[in-house]
Amino acid sequence: MARDPRYDILFEPVHIGPVVARNRFYQVPHCNGMGWRDPSAVAAMRGMKAEGGWAVVCTEMTEIHQTADVAPYVELRLWSDQDIPMHARIAEKIHEHQSLAGIELCHSGYTSSNLWSREIPIAPTAMPTSSSFNSPIQARAMDKEDIKNLRRAHRAAALRARTASYDLVYVYAGHGLGIFQQFLSRATNMRNDEYGGSLENRARLLCEVIAETKEAVGDRCAVPVRIAMNEFLGANGLEPAEVEDAIGLMAELPDLWDLSLSSWDKDSQTSRFTEEGFQEPYIKGVKKLTTKPVVGVGRYTSPDTMVRVIKQGIMDMIGAARPSIADPFLPKKIEEGRLDDIRECIGCNICVTGDFTMSPIRCTQNPTMGEEWRRGWHPERIRPAGNVSNILIVGAGPAGLEAARALGARGHKVTLADARSEAGGRVLRESKLPGLAAWGRVRDWRLLQINKLPNVELYLESEMKPETLAEFGADHIVLATGSTWRRDGTARHHTRPIEIEAAAEVLTPDDILDGKRPTGKNVVLYDDDHYYMGGVIAELLRKENYAVTLVTPSSLVSSFTVASLEQHAIQAKLLELNVKIEANSALQSIAADHVTLGCVFTGRTLELAAGSVILVTARDVRDQLFQSSVDKIPNLTRIGDCFSPGTIAAAVHAGRKFAEEFGSPPPDFLGLPYRREVIELS
Ligand code: ADP
Ligand code: SF4
Repeated sequence: MARDPRYDILFEPVHIGPVVARNRFYQVPHCNGMGWRDPSAVAAMRGMKAEGGWAVVCTEMTEIHQTADVAPYVELRLWSDQDIPMHARIAEKIHEHQSLAGIELCHSGYTSSNLWSREIPIAPTAMPTSSSFNSPIQARAMDKEDIKNLRRAHRAAALRARTASYDLVYVYAGHGLGIFQQFLSRATNMRNDEYGGSLENRARLLCEVIAETKEAVGDRCAVPVRIAMNEFLGANGLEPAEVEDAIGLMAELPDLWDLSLSSWDKDSQTSRFTEEGFQEPYIKGVKKLTTKPVVGVGRYTSPDTMVRVIKQGIMDMIGAARPSIADPFLPKKIEEGRLDDIRECIGCNICVTGDFTMSPIRCTQNPTMGEEWRRGWHPERIRPAGNVSNILIVGAGPAGLEAARALGARGHKVTLADARSEAGGRVLRESKLPGLAAWGRVRDWRLLQINKLPNVELYLESEMKPETLAEFGADHIVLATGSTWRRDGTARHHTRPIEIEAAAEVLTPDDILDGKRPTGKNVVLYDDDHYYMGGVIAELLRKENYAVTLVTPSSLVSSFTVASLEQHAIQAKLLELNVKIEANSALQSIAADHVTLGCVFTGRTLELAAGSVILVTARDVRDQLFQSSVDKIPNLTRIGDCFSPGTIAAAVHAGRKFAEEFGSPPPDFLGLPYRREVIELS
C-alpha cells in the first residue's frame, strides 16, 4: 500500500549540520542494559531500527573517560582507542540501512561513582555521588585543571567517535546524568569562579564544549545537544524559563536541540501516569529560540499526532526511544500505509528494567527486542515452517496470543481456544485497573494480526478439558493457561503458608479482577509481590472508598518499580489518596477481624483491625490440564504463566520462543541456545 499523503510531511528530509536525515523519525539515545558487554547485540538492535526506517539512530550514553564510569550499569564506553572497533560495528549496522548513526558522549559527573575504575568522582561542586545503593562515595569539586582535562577528554572521545564513523556526536546535558547539566543547574553548581553563579557562567562549559566538539568533528559530524528542560526542583534547579534563556545564549551553536526532562523518571514516564505527548508543554517554546532542528519525545505512536506536532511548530523531528523499541518498523509501516500493523508501545517501562538490572533490554510488545543478534529474531519476519503442523493452543493470554500469531506467520495451522468470552487473558483483565488501559494494546495488536491470518482460528467460550484435548487430534498442543494468585501468604518473606482463621475474609487479585469486593470497609492489603499489582489494587480500592492499609516487608511500596522508574510516583499517589503504609512489616497471621504484623527487623508484633485481607503474594501455575494429560497425550508443551508465572513481557517472549523453536530439535540442556559475546583476552 502507498503512504497516505497526510503523512508526507513526516518523510521530508531534515538537514542537521553537515548531514541530512532522510525523514523526521529520530531514535533518541536510550539505554539497553547491553552496552560494552554485548556490543554485537547492541549493533544488531540499532541496525534493526535503521532497517525499520528511523533516519537517525543513536547509541545509549557512552562513557568518555574512566572518571565517567557508571558501573554497575552497563552502558557503552569510549575510554580509549581500544573501544573504537565496537563503535565502528554499531555505526556500520546503522549505515547498512542508510540511516545516520549518533553517539551520546557522556561524562556523568557526580552520578558516576566509578565503582569499576576506582577513580575519584568529579563534579562542579563537591557532593556525595548519586547512586542506587547510596554508595559511601563523594565527588570532589573540579578545579580549573580538571575542567581543562574534561574538555580534552570530550574532544578526544569526539575524535574517536568520528573515526568510528558516527554522523552525530552529542554533547549531553540531560537527565541529571550529563556533567554539563550539572554545571548549568543551581542544584549542583555552587562554584564562585567563572563557571558558577550567573547563568552565563554556569552555561560557559557547555558552550565551550559545543564549540570544541564542532571544531574537532564538525566538518563531517553534526553536533546535537541534549538538554533537560526541567529538573522539577522549582527555583533550586533548572526550570523551563531558565533553560530557554540558556538555549537563547547558544541557540545557533549546536546543530540540533534534543529536549528532555530530568531526571530519567520524569523523562520516561509510564502510561500509568501520563499520556502520549506529555512533554509538549516543556518543548513548545524552544523552536522560537533557534533555527536549528528541534527534537522532542513523548511516547508518540500515532502518526496523526506526529503530523500535528510538526505542523504546529513544536518540533522538527519525532524523537522516540520506547516507540522505537516496541516497533522498530514504525516509520516503515507509516510509509507503507500499514498503520494497523504498528505495535504501539504500552508505556510499561519493562524496557527500562533491563538497564536497571544490568541485563539485556526486553520489551512487552516486542519480544524480539534484545534478541536480534543472540537468537537471530526479527520483529517483522519469522522463518517459514518446513512442514505445516496442526497446532492447538489453549489460552489466549499474552503467551497464547503471541504463540498463535507467530506460529501462524510461519504458516502452521493454528487453533487458539479460550474458556472466556473475550481473548487477552490477564492483559484484558489487568488493563481495566487504574492507569493500565494502554496495556490492552498487547492483546489488540495480536488479535488484529491473527485476524489477518486465514490459518489461525480463535474459539472463545471454549473451555478445554482433558477429553477434548485428546479428541482434538492436533500434532502439537500448547498450554498457555496462565496462573492464579495464592491465598496462603506464601511468597518471598514467608516461604510456607501463614496462619489464617477459617472465618477470615481473604481475597486475591484474581477476586478483585473478577469484580469481587471486600465486605468490610477496612482493608489490609499485603504486598509481598512488589511489582505493580499491590499498589494498583490499593489505588483502586481507595478510590472506591475503602480504608486501605498497605503492608509490605519491603521498605518501599511496589519496590520493583524502582526499576521501571515508577516507584516514586506510585508511593506519592498512594500517600495522596491516604492509603496507610506499613513498610518493613510482614503479615504473620490473619484472624476474622484483625491481622498480626511483624517488624521484619525486630520481629516486634502489631495488631491491626481488618475486615478483609487482600493477599498480593505469589502465583500458582494453572496447569491442571497439563497434569491430567501429560501421560496420555504426546507433544504437549506448557508456556507462559502456566509454566512459570512472570511478567506479561515474559509471557509474550515465551510465546514467541515456542513459535521460533517449534519444529527444531529441542536444544540440549548443556548446549548454549544463543550466541554470546566473549571478551578476548588481552
Ligand atoms: P499468560 O500470561 O501465560 O498468557 P493468562 O493468564 O494471561 O496467561 O492467560 C491464560 C488464559 O488461558 C486465560 O484467558 C484463561 O481463560 C485461559 N484458560 C485457562 N484454562 C483454560 C482451559 N482449560 N481451556 C481454555 N482456556 C483456558
Ligand atoms: Fe513500551 Fe513497555 Fe516496550 Fe518499553 S517495554 S517499549 S514501555 S511496550
